Amino acid sequence: MTKDYGLAVPAVDDISLTIEPGEFMTFLGPSGSGKTTTLNLIAGFDTLSGGTIALNGTDVGSLPPHKRNLGMLFQNYALFPHMTVAQNVGYPLRERKMAKTDIARRVSEVLNLVQLPGRDGNYPAQLSGGQQQRVALARAIVFQPEALLLDEPLGALDRNLRGTLQEEIRRIHREVGSTFVFVTHDQEEAMNLSDRIALFNNGRIEQVGTPEQLYREPETLFTATFLGDSNVFDLGDKGFGTHAGWEDCRWTVDSYTVAGHPGVLSHAAIVVRPEDLFIARDPVSVPPGANAVSATIQDLEYMGSYRAALLHLGGNGLRGRARIDASESTLTVGDQVTAWWRPERQRVVAA
Ligand code: ADP
Ligand code: MG
Repeated sequence: MTKDYGLAVPAVDDISLTIEPGEFMTFLGPSGSGKTTTLNLIAGFDTLSGGTIALNGTDVGSLPPHKRNLGMLFQNYALFPHMTVAQNVGYPLRERKMAKTDIARRVSEVLNLVQLPGRDGNYPAQLSGGQQQRVALARAIVFQPEALLLDEPLGALDRNLRGTLQEEIRRIHREVGSTFVFVTHDQEEAMNLSDRIALFNNGRIEQVGTPEQLYREPETLFTATFLGDSNVFDLGDKGFGTHAGWEDCRWTVDSYTVAGHPGVLSHAAIVVRPEDLFIARDPVSVPPGANAVSATIQDLEYMGSYRAALLHLGGNGLRGRARIDASESTLTVGDQVTAWWRPERQRVVAA
């Protein structure tokens, strides 16, 4: 599907994605990458410039929002201030002309699900931000929609509350078993919640996969750097081991080709996660077959459960970041060491 507002680049640029029934799918990406536009196209709040949208095999591209039977939850709770909690949550059922006694039963069921029992008679203004968002969530799922679309629903909440509500949303997803499409720019939130993540960049989907696939097997430099810390070692275009920055190193890289990229890369980089980059005091203790480069410890950071070393690598201004075991307490700034990693823990991407 495509959405073109007539700007230099389409807001959503010919993306294609299948979301499985019952799946927790997250749209992750920087601000302006097209996540909200895509969600609005699915919801029917915005019209397509090209392409199609199907729900359970039926084309819904030209249906108005209320005929798509989707629940929506936004960052600002958008509750009706003059209605009680019960009236807010029951609203979609009254719209659907459900019988009064059924509405009362269903509303109390859903308020239990979001852990707000006994708040039926309160007005939104009497509730905290987190509680208001629970009410909005209850209202979005009370009519058992085909899918629930959530656009940065936790964006307005403080960090602790976000964590709690993330767990709640995950639990509610498990309990109701319906499809959730969740938008966030927070990679940690995406990793915690999702069955799969679609990573957006400039109106396109960069990569789709489980959190682990995106973290362990990034296919592009963008994916590797957007999700989690990574060391990016530029290989240049001269072939392995010949880049100017790499003095005094030994390594193997199987090929200059990458999944999803036809042919041989003209310019590549190696991506290594900090937890896969190790430090040896003595080059002799580097395991056989490991890729290694001489390094100087530039700085040490205390990270709570571990320490991180910032490294200068290879003698030409390349930087790296490694985790140090608590047992390696004797390393200090200025030490000459060898940084090494196992080739199977590296990814080669186009640079
Ligand atoms: P995200 O949700 O990932 O932050 P959006 O989908 O809101 O991104 O926006 C994607 C791009 O489309 C941005 O460049 C934004 O400025 C543009 N855009 C969004 N809505 C409109 C609109 N109604 N009119 C014109 N441009 C828009
Ligand atoms: Mg947005």
